[in-house]
Amino acid sequence: MEETPHIAILPNPGMGHLIPFVELAKRLVLSHNFSVTCIVPTIDSPSKAQETVLKCLPHGISYVFLPAVSFDDLKEDVRAEIKVSLTMSRSLSPLREVLKSIMIRTRLVALIVDPYGTDAFDLAEEFGVPSYIFFMSNAMALSFCLQLPKLDEMISCEYRDLPEPVKIPGCIPVQGRDLMDPVRDRKDEAYKVFLHHVKRFTLAEGIIVNSCMDLEAGAVRALQDGGLVKPPVYPVGPLVRTWSKIGDDDDSECLRWLDGQPDGSVLYVSFGSGGTLSYDQVNELALGLEMSEQRFLWVLRTPNDRSSNAAYLTNQSQNDPFDYLPKGFRDRTRGQGLILPSWAPQIKVLSHSSVSGFLTHCGWNSTLESIMCGVPLIAWPLYSEQKMNAIMLTEGLQVALRPEINKSGLVQREEIVRVVKGLMTGGGHGVRIRAKELKEAATKALCDDGSASKALLEFVLACRNKIGR
Ligand code: UDP
Repeated sequence: MEETPHIAILPNPGMGHLIPFVELAKRLVLSHNFSVTCIVPTIDSPSKAQETVLKCLPHGISYVFLPAVSFDDLKEDVRAEIKVSLTMSRSLSPLREVLKSIMIRTRLVALIVDPYGTDAFDLAEEFGVPSYIFFMSNAMALSFCLQLPKLDEMISCEYRDLPEPVKIPGCIPVQGRDLMDPVRDRKDEAYKVFLHHVKRFTLAEGIIVNSCMDLEAGAVRALQDGGLVKPPVYPVGPLVRTWSKIGDDDDSECLRWLDGQPDGSVLYVSFGSGGTLSYDQVNELALGLEMSEQRFLWVLRTPNDRSSNAAYLTNQSQNDPFDYLPKGFRDRTRGQGLILPSWAPQIKVLSHSSVSGFLTHCGWNSTLESIMCGVPLIAWPLYSEQKMNAIMLTEGLQVALRPEINKSGLVQREEIVRVVKGLMTGGGHGVRIRAKELKEAATKALCDDGSASKALLEFVLACRNKIGR
């Protein structure tokens, strides 16, 4: 049997979960001498984006895709949270087989699961293996999740109807309507599923969170000292890719285009691995970008009027997204912007010297990647906990500008011009300075004696102590 202690990780298939899980695995293998198996549940077949992340893993990390789960019994419009949770629970039986085979070959010391994967705790217990959660969003969102079972008991109305903002320990208070998506309708199945998982968070041996004291001092302190009933919390972030082979086959056009732009002149526009805008919003955004007269690189997906995370589990556009742009837009903006369908090599884009702003859906990975590159943001939240992130970025960290939404739920072209010009020209000075300061703070956290490295070491020691070695 292999002597190196082994850890199994179980992300959900969304890229925003898989990527930080893989980064965590790299730290555990390269800095702490573990070996890791990444076990990936799947829907249909693995996406190209997933395969490219997993293909370039360092020695010591292997991966296995679990057989695709079937959703034939589900209604077509079932919410993404339910699909994700079912993907995890319907993968338990093949997971059992994989864990068995890992335990024959190696000394399995921990199972680290996705927040939607808490049903796997029972399996881990059966095998006598401690289980942990990797919460790949921030300390604020984690703190809210840990508080949710209590809120659920105390409050009877919908959270969006609460007259007062919700107080999350150590954080800026958040209006009920801005809380994370799964809690927006308490009668919906998605809420029940979410509550089921967050209630089980306390069963974990520990919770690893992708943030650090240097970025979220208040929330982290509250998590570590506060009165919440919870296992130990390890703030080990920011775990972001420092380089990436994602899209290497396709990214030369994009990088060549960026090479040809003046330093600090380009706004990168992207709504994460699966964010989608409505037809009208795509139109307004296109016209707003054009009217701003700023250079832009825009990752465009086919619009969708029903869901803002329509491509979350596929990362792909359904039809040619270019068909939905305003008439003549591509010709008129040929010298001003480049549009990519569906996917960009985001780390390379954000690290490029010509990029100096990021219009983002505020997914936590995108946020951390931008911070690590010192790039200030325009906060345009779409789904999940992104409205909470947007509040943190604008009111708390003050590293982002935020456009107003009109009564019909649309950000109009004039408003887009206001924030884009505000960020890219002189007016964005304040957020630009904050972005540089946050980059320094986050970099410091990751130094050998930084807060994040110490937290990871604590997790490693806890893990090793648990198994007595
Ligand atoms: N990503 C990328 N290219 C794209 C879109 C997304 O490389 O065109 C990566 C991005 O760098 C990040 C992840 O996918 O690491 C998206 O995670 P995030 O938490 O920002 O948002 P989510 O997709 O989970 O909503």
